Amino acid sequence: MERVEEVVIVGAGICGLAIAVALRRYGIQAVVVERAESLRTTGASITLASNAWLALEALGVSHKLNPHYPTLNKSVVTNLSTGAVQISPFPPNQSGRVGPKTVHRKALLEVLGEELPRENIRFSCKITSISTELDGQGSSIALLLMEDGSHIKAKVLIGCDGVHSQVARWLGLGEPVDSGRFGLRALSVYPQGHGLDHDVFRFTHTGFNGGFVPFTKTDLYLYLTTLKSRDSGEEGITAKTPPELIQKYVIEHYCKDFPPEYLDVVNHVDVSTLTWAPLKLRLPWNVIFGKLSKGTITVAGDAMHPMTPDLGQGGCCALEDAVVLGRCIGNTYLKNGQKLVSSEVAKAIDEYVEARRWRVAGVITASFISGWVQDGSSWLKRFVRDAIFYRFFAQYASTVINYDCGSLPRTSAESNPKQD
Ligand SMILES: Cc1cc2nc3c(=O)[nH]c(=O)nc-3n(C[C@H](O)[C@H](O)[C@H](O)COP(=O)(O)OP(=O)(O)OC[C@H]3O[C@@H](n4cnc5c(N)ncnc54)[C@H](O)[C@@H]3O)c2cc1C
Repeated sequence: MERVEEVVIVGAGICGLAIAVALRRYGIQAVVVERAESLRTTGASITLASNAWLALEALGVSHKLNPHYPTLNKSVVTNLSTGAVQISPFPPNQSGRVGPKTVHRKALLEVLGEELPRENIRFSCKITSISTELDGQGSSIALLLMEDGSHIKAKVLIGCDGVHSQVARWLGLGEPVDSGRFGLRALSVYPQGHGLDHDVFRFTHTGFNGGFVPFTKTDLYLYLTTLKSRDSGEEGITAKTPPELIQKYVIEHYCKDFPPEYLDVVNHVDVSTLTWAPLKLRLPWNVIFGKLSKGTITVAGDAMHPMTPDLGQGGCCALEDAVVLGRCIGNTYLKNGQKLVSSEVAKAIDEYVEARRWRVAGVITASFISGWVQDGSSWLKRFVRDAIFYRFFAQYASTVINYDCGSLPRTSAESNPKQD
C-alpha cells in the first residue's frame, strides 16, 4: 500500500519551517517539501517585532538569535521635500519582551531548520498540482503531484508556499493583487564597521521612500519602495533585471534626491542579496470571507496573507500562524491518543482559521494604508503623512506588535535545564 504522510508542509520558508517546529513540540513529524535546492534567503534580512519574538520564544529558538542582534531604538524620518525630521522612539516593550530587532534571514531559517531532522526537509521537490481522494475509512487525503512525476499523499496538507501559493489557488482564494508599488531590498556591508546607531533611518519623498537599518556592526538592511509608474518606461527595471543594473539605476534615478549617506549605503550593497519585486497583497475581504481551509488542507504565512511590507509584519504574522496552527493541531493529536484523526484535525484547522482571519486582515489593511500615505504622491497623502501618520503611528503600531500568540509545550530539556 502506498505510504500516506501524516502532515505535509509545502515550502521551507519562515512559515513552513516554523510550523514543522511547532508540531514537533507535540511529537508530530511533518514532512516539508521545498522546490529550491537549499534554504532560500531572499531578502537578506528581516525586522522582527515583539510579536515575532514571542512566537520564537514559544518555538524554543529565540535564545539562539536574540544575543546576536541589538534592539533598534528609534525611527528617524526625514522628509526630503521639506527637510523636516521626526524622531519616534520605538514604544518600550512590556517587561521581558524582545524587539524590534533586524536579523539575517539566513540565521532565522537556519535556527528553525536545526530543530528538525534533516530527512524531514525534502529539497528540490516542487509540487505542481493538488487533488484529493478518499482513503479506506472514507477520509479525504491530499494527493500532491511533484515536478519529477512522483506523488506524495498526505493526511494533512499545509500550504506555506508563499505569495503565489498553489494551495491557496486550490482552495479558491482570490489571487493576490498588485499594490501598484515596487520594493527593493538588499544587504549593505561595511567590513570595517559603519559607525551608525541601531536606528531605523527613513527618507520620504513624492512617490517613493527609502531607508536603511544598521543592525550589526558591519551590516545594514537597505530598502526602497516606489510607485510602479515611475519605472515603467523603456529604461525601467523589472524583477528580472540583473542586480548590478538595478543598483546602477537606483544610483542614477533615486540617489540624487537622497542624502549622501543613502548613496553610500547603496554603493556598499552586496549585489548577490539585491531584489526588486512588485509588492502584492491579498485583499482583506478575501481573507475575512474567503475559504482559508477545506477539511485538513489549509494555508499559512504569505500563502494566506501576503501584505505590503510597510509595517514589517508579513514574517512576524507567519510566525504567529505557526504557533497557533501548531497548537490547534497538537492539542487534537494529544486528545486523540497521539493520533491525527482527520475529522478532529479538520475542526482544529477551523479553529486556527477563525483565530487568524481578523487579525491578519487587520494587519494587511494597516500595512496598505501605511504604504499609501507614505508614498506621498498627492497633497492629501502628504498632509496625512506629515500631520497625522507619524504622530499616531507609534501608538497604533504598538497594538499590532504587542500581540501575543500564546505558548507551546516545552521540551523536557527546557523544563529541566542542567544545573551548573
Ligand atoms: C520588501 C519586503 C520587505 C519585507 N520586510 C519584512 C520585515 O521587515 N519583517 C517581516 O516580518 N516581514 C517582512 N516582509 C514579509 C516577509 O518577507 C514574508 O511575509 C515572509 O517571508 C513570508 O514567509 P513564508 O514562509 O510565508 O513565505 P516565503 O518566504 O515566500 O516561502 C515560501 C517557500 O515556499 C517555496 N515554494 C513555493 N512554491 C512551491 C512549490 N510549488 N513547491 C515547493 N515549494 C514551493 C518557496 O521556494 C519558498 O521557500 C517583507 C517583504 C518584502 C517584499
